[in-house]
Amino acid sequence: MNLSNYLKIKNIIPSNVNILAVSKGFTSQEIKTIQNIGQNDFGESKFQEAFEKKLILKDLKQLQWHFIGRIQSNKIRKIVQNFEYIHSVDSFEKLQKISNVSCEEIKSPKIMLQVKLSDDPTKGGFNPELLISKWKEIRELKNVRLSGLMTINPKGLSSKENSELFKKCRSIADSLQLSDCSMGMSGDWEEAVDAGATWLRLGSLIFGDRS
Ligand SMILES: *Cc1c(COP(=O)(O)O)cnc(C)c1O
Repeated sequence: MNLSNYLKIKNIIPSNVNILAVSKGFTSQEIKTIQNIGQNDFGESKFQEAFEKKLILKDLKQLQWHFIGRIQSNKIRKIVQNFEYIHSVDSFEKLQKISNVSCEEIKSPKIMLQVKLSDDPTKGGFNPELLISKWKEIRELKNVRLSGLMTINPKGLSSKENSELFKKCRSIADSLQLSDCSMGMSGDWEEAVDAGATWLRLGSLIFGDRS
């Protein structure tokens, strides 16, 4: 746990930039420690792990849970029931299913659509051209609050390369009039802030190494 890193970053980022504390691999006790100094948004990438922590922390009503992991279709109902934000919606089919399920569950999660800006085979996401061409259809889906785009940069890029991809994400979001960009992790958050991120997803920088 590195609370001084957390406080340092919190102090230097602009007020429209939010920190999402990525707590995957860390315990509910560690979540409590950082919640105590004012952090209420937590990101998890596996449903079952998140669900167990959520149960333990159910008395902390101010917590907001964000799903940031790969979405399996058979988990969509549980994700919709348990998360206020979903950052990792990577296809039109999944978005449609989230919309249908959200209508049935009387929920309307905030959604970030994951975009694929590089050809890293390990990362999914909407192809930007496809996203733009389907935008009219996407906007009409019910019970999904489309708040922004999300991207994950490949590892090992230079600072300049990270900046370029983040700026691309920001410019697509602007062209679709979406206010949020969920981008930047422990290794590239500074470039993300400069490019206009509104959600930094920080794990190891705050919580320490995930072993
Ligand atoms: C794990 C994870 C993070 C946090 O990564 P760190 O490098 O530990 O900050 C951010 N985003 C996603 C999608 C993740 O899976």
